[in-house]
Amino acid sequence: MKYVDVIVPLPLAGKFTYLVPDDWDENVRVGMRVVVPFGKKKMYTAIICLIHTQKPQLYEAKEILCLLDNEPILRFPQMKFWEWVSSYYQAYLGDVYQAAIPAGLKLESETLVCINPDFEAEKILNDKEQSILDALSEGKPMHVNELSKFTGISDVMPIIKTLLEKGALEISEELTDKFRPKTNTFVRLTDEAKVEENLRQFFDDLARAKKQLDLLMMYIDLSKCLVPLHQKELTRKELLEKSGASAAVLNGLVERGILEIYLKEIGRLDLSDKITKEVFSLNEFQNIALKEIETHFVEKPIVLLHGVTSSGKTEIYIHLIQKVLDEGKQVLYLVPEIALTTQLTSRLKRVFGKRLGVYHSKFSDAERVEIWNNVLKDKTYDVIIGVRSSIFLPFRHLGLVIVDEEHESSYKQYDPSPRYHARNAAIVLASMHGAKTLLGSATPSIESYYNTQIGKYGLVELHKRHEEMEMPEIVVVDTKEAYHKKRMEGHFSDIMLEKIGNALTNKEQVILFQNRRGYAPYIECKACAYVPKCKNCDVSLTVHKIFNTLTCHYCGYSESIPTICPVCKTPNLDTKGFGTEKIEDEIRQIFPTAKVSRMDLDTTRSKKSYEKIISDFEQHKVDILIGTQMVSKGLDFESVNLVGILNADNMLNFPDFRAHERAYQLMAQVSGRAGRKNKRGLVILQTSLPEHTIINQVIRNDYNEMFRIQSEERQLFKYPPYYRLIQITLRHKDVQIVKQATYTMTNMLRAVFGSRILGPIDPAVSRIQNLFIKQILLKIENEASPAKAKEILQNINEQILADSRFKSLRIGLDVDPL
Ligand code: ADP
Ligand code: ZN
Repeated sequence: MKYVDVIVPLPLAGKFTYLVPDDWDENVRVGMRVVVPFGKKKMYTAIICLIHTQKPQLYEAKEILCLLDNEPILRFPQMKFWEWVSSYYQAYLGDVYQAAIPAGLKLESETLVCINPDFEAEKILNDKEQSILDALSEGKPMHVNELSKFTGISDVMPIIKTLLEKGALEISEELTDKFRPKTNTFVRLTDEAKVEENLRQFFDDLARAKKQLDLLMMYIDLSKCLVPLHQKELTRKELLEKSGASAAVLNGLVERGILEIYLKEIGRLDLSDKITKEVFSLNEFQNIALKEIETHFVEKPIVLLHGVTSSGKTEIYIHLIQKVLDEGKQVLYLVPEIALTTQLTSRLKRVFGKRLGVYHSKFSDAERVEIWNNVLKDKTYDVIIGVRSSIFLPFRHLGLVIVDEEHESSYKQYDPSPRYHARNAAIVLASMHGAKTLLGSATPSIESYYNTQIGKYGLVELHKRHEEMEMPEIVVVDTKEAYHKKRMEGHFSDIMLEKIGNALTNKEQVILFQNRRGYAPYIECKACAYVPKCKNCDVSLTVHKIFNTLTCHYCGYSESIPTICPVCKTPNLDTKGFGTEKIEDEIRQIFPTAKVSRMDLDTTRSKKSYEKIISDFEQHKVDILIGTQMVSKGLDFESVNLVGILNADNMLNFPDFRAHERAYQLMAQVSGRAGRKNKRGLVILQTSLPEHTIINQVIRNDYNEMFRIQSEERQLFKYPPYYRLIQITLRHKDVQIVKQATYTMTNMLRAVFGSRILGPIDPAVSRIQNLFIKQILLKIENEASPAKAKEILQNINEQILADSRFKSLRIGLDVDPL
């Protein structure tokens, strides 16, 4: 009898043993996918991690239902890496599996599949294949188990798998709505109807056209077009299907100018092979830096490249990548989610052509599966540029990992588990392959820079911008004084307005940075001080004027903006503070002829809209770009001379030990967008704290002093990089239970760890989605064994969860929280 131990994609500890049917005995190998029954009725795609002959003792092993692969889809190095992620970040292997593998490779009973409308069979399909396609021919997606029932085929999995490989079927991502056929027809409100008064008028007009009215309401309901965080593009087909309305009714609404139809191209992998071998020769300083990196690599596997903005780090990466490719090895180029722009990818495409694969979370699942298989089969890609989850791709012989903008906090995955840090995990991944890691940043994280200071990483610095461009001049405006002297118009100081005016006259572009989206962080009643809060979370609701809503940025709850105070019934509601939307509003009023665009989470829901904003700005179709930290990332625009930072205060006052480091990084990065070849850039920085040390360091571009002061404080107060942190988060819908559990757990932990335990802590937001939250922080000395501490922690964790008082309590561990 042959058995296999498998990992199932579920948050469960341990592996599960299954029996291999005799006829597959010879075929099973570690790293292959098998479909297994699990629990009462479920099926999952599991991964084989061990083959043996040991009958399980506690349960009767069930048989594997089907073997999905002829070749393993995971290699030994990935397995080892998964194990490491699981143990270091205290996550179940099943969670690592979930994070690592694209949905298209994880068929399970709940997987939704649909027909690919563009599919044309090259060969005749067999009966079973044909009956599955017939079942799906209506175009409606079906779950795998539904298909099995519907067609009466009991072993549907292998057939679905073959059909997926032939391109006849596709995995439908109902929840994320990422997959769509190559082109599709969509419906949306017209620009006119998006204006609230107009929409109301339209509703009135439709009073006597009941069918159209119903359809419009259905559209609003389905598309959630009035709910900022949940808007969804709706196809014409889906709308008609779900509403049962006829095409004529829809056309009626289109004729009235309320709805409009649009076609959308959904591109697949861009395999353009325009390869021009466009490699620039490095300038003097870049050449020195490259040599230094290589010298360090002889002795140290990890090097930090600290190069000011526009010093040409990308060019250095390109030269290094070429050398590694020449040795026949693979390269992983990690970028933070937001920096993965067309700018960077087209730059790399021009050099590496077809050898470059792009792994993006905004890609459809089909595209991600394609990349996975390409890397696996060693076919074309040997350079992968990707976001954090690309560390899980099945590399065979990685030679170099580059982590660009290594200080970026978006490298850290928070939810769901595994809560891994892609930079740190990539370093481990590289070492497993015997590869080198190059970290790059203009504003390195305190942790990485510290590691260069203690000799763990090599350090290479580049102080000169390319082509002798100067670092921008930074002018600070004291907003307190400016308000006092009435030198503010809206949220703009007179200097800021003057400089924006000049830039527009000179046909230069402007970037305005405000680290908050929405119109205003909250509204308050001037009479009774009432502030509307989320009903599910302990936070005030953010004002989104465009949608006329108050919205929760934690759970997406939203309601319309009240006109009078719901408490004291007076019309005294006032917006407080300001976000990007309000800045946009004001700028449009002050400079009515300027072309303005906004880039924040609300305007960049899809990959396309994000890229459009950037390309419009690049092509100078936009004069002023307003945005959150998104505008600070890895963008390189030729005619931006002025950058405005509207308010540095909230960054500086944020209650977190990393707040000052982050404030420095953000301001330095966004300032780095200013400046052109022959003209020194200008940054206007508005703050009510002009004397703040961080502001001073930003002005002087003094990273080293920032590092020195911050690291002294970290040492004094026992924070990273001098100590390791593990954050324990307890959640429950009953505030008493969470309190009691936290209290009990804190005491148990304190009995072992003493003063290394901090807590119970009330997080800044103490209730999210109706769950009350408490935290405990464990600080461990760098010298101590983290593995031992985690073991103790797990033990206590299990004891708490086993306590009948704490039923349905959720405990999450976050190792190295950010
Ligand atoms: P960083 O990543 O350090 O901010 P980039 O690599 O984006 O800087 O370089 C800034 C700009 O300078 C880019 O437009 C890049 O193409 C250009 N550049 C940098 N180095 C060179 C070089 N050696 N030859 C030609 N152009 C260069
Ligand atoms: Zn909420």
